[in-house]
Amino acid sequence: MYLRRLPLMFAWLVMASLVLILFILSQTQYSAIGMAVTAIKNEVTNSLKNSYFETLLNIHRKLPLLPPADQIHISFCNSSMDFKARPYQPHKPLLYIVTPTYTRREQVVEMVRMSHTLLHVDNVIWVMAEDADKCSPLVESYLQRFQMPYVHLVSPMPTMYKKEKYKPRGVASRRAGLDWILAHHDASKSAIVYFADDDNTYDLKLFEEIRQTQKVSVFPVGFVGSKGSPGITSPIVKHGKVVGFSDDWFASRVFPVDMAGFAINVDFVKSRKNASMPFWAGYEEDVFIQSLNVDLEDLEPLANDCTEILVWHTKTVSDKTPKVKITKHLDTNLKTLVDDAVFKGMDTYDTKSKNELKYCFHGEKCDKYSNL
Ligand code: UDP
Ligand code: MN
Repeated sequence: MYLRRLPLMFAWLVMASLVLILFILSQTQYSAIGMAVTAIKNEVTNSLKNSYFETLLNIHRKLPLLPPADQIHISFCNSSMDFKARPYQPHKPLLYIVTPTYTRREQVVEMVRMSHTLLHVDNVIWVMAEDADKCSPLVESYLQRFQMPYVHLVSPMPTMYKKEKYKPRGVASRRAGLDWILAHHDASKSAIVYFADDDNTYDLKLFEEIRQTQKVSVFPVGFVGSKGSPGITSPIVKHGKVVGFSDDWFASRVFPVDMAGFAINVDFVKSRKNASMPFWAGYEEDVFIQSLNVDLEDLEPLANDCTEILVWHTKTVSDKTPKVKITKHLDTNLKTLVDDAVFKGMDTYDTKSKNELKYCFHGEKCDKYSNL
């Protein structure tokens, strides 16, 4: 009897020693083996989370909700926790504003516009995460100029999702931002996370509303350019409680809300170990809120019981970056102006371009009237 159990005991012994060795190795963070162990750990965590969601939500899509760990790359660029533009208000909760961004012609324009909203708000820490391989010096230079606390990260969209028709835009950035917050937030302070895309339009009143969030707050969002639909998405509130949702696209979602339409309390997210935003276009918000394991009763309606729109889903007209050249009048401001536009990503300089800057001098009518 005892002898028959020997191989089994041996197998257990081998397993236990392996686990112990892996554990010891995983503590040596900087060795190659330690890194490999971390990668395996991430892989296992991801695939467990994947199967958890897929089973729980009965989701069967071609691509997994999370990529293999080797497709997730997060780099820390820089941060500042100095409240220079506005003094820190110790009695008010912090607001982590997590903003995905990517290199394109209108990027600086969006950053300037959005920062000048945030600069009116107390206790904001702007978590900017780029969908890029490298930290952009342009983004960094602007973040430094705004004089508010910020965290600058890069986290590119995993390659496997880039081929999709509907891409999960900004998901890698939001995940990186939330990870950073959960790892670095000073637990003695109360704080809220809000996922704020760089192209939306925010009423200042919104920020004081979301500051009250205890678990998950929800509120209406307006759509500009809604192509004939009402352009409103909102929780339905009765007697101060969320009882449903109004949206133009339900698509079997349990929580049909827009990314701009909810905020979460950091302590609450910390208490939800399975919190995870999926790489699934259209379902990012729904699956994320489901992963927080909340019921309708847990949702806190803001904006005066969801009677006011305080945030709009807007979109800036986007264009290919034009090529430009300047060969004449180099003794004027124009050359430096072109260099500045090139630095800000508004133009690319091309000596072979036909797009020479046009010139008109001394108040002459340089062109014919064209609209008579
Ligand atoms: N975004 C990104 N990578 C992309 C496209 C978008 O990081 O390839 C960011 C973008 O800056 C914005 C968010 O993801 O903050 C949502 O993207 P977009 O506004 O294009 O999506 P929409 O509002 O049209 O759904
Ligand atoms: Mn947008």
